[in-house]
Amino acid sequence: MADRLGTRLETAAHPALVGRLGHHPTHGARAHTRDALLVATRQNIEQITGGLSRISDGTYGACQKCHERIPAERLAVLPHARFCVPYQEKQNR
Ligand SMILES: [Zn+2]
Repeated sequence: MADRLGTRLETAAHPALVGRLGHHPTHGARAHTRDALLVATRQNIEQITGGLSRISDGTYGACQKCHERIPAERLAVLPHARFCVPYQEKQNR
């Protein structure tokens, strides 16, 4: 009984995950969504562990390019920011 309920909850959860990511499910989209989730989660973990290691070696909050201090407002929005706004904007261009 508990097993059957678990399976039902699991299948019910998938469309919700797809919807939250804003993808429109098509055939074979479920595996694709799972891969995309895995990639995004891995990137999040890398960003967080990167930020933590910069905290421990004392470089957190400094631009890794020009070594200027990253403004607190930027870190509030993007806690794992590695570059100052001017440098990041140049990269996005
Ligand atoms: Zn910089």
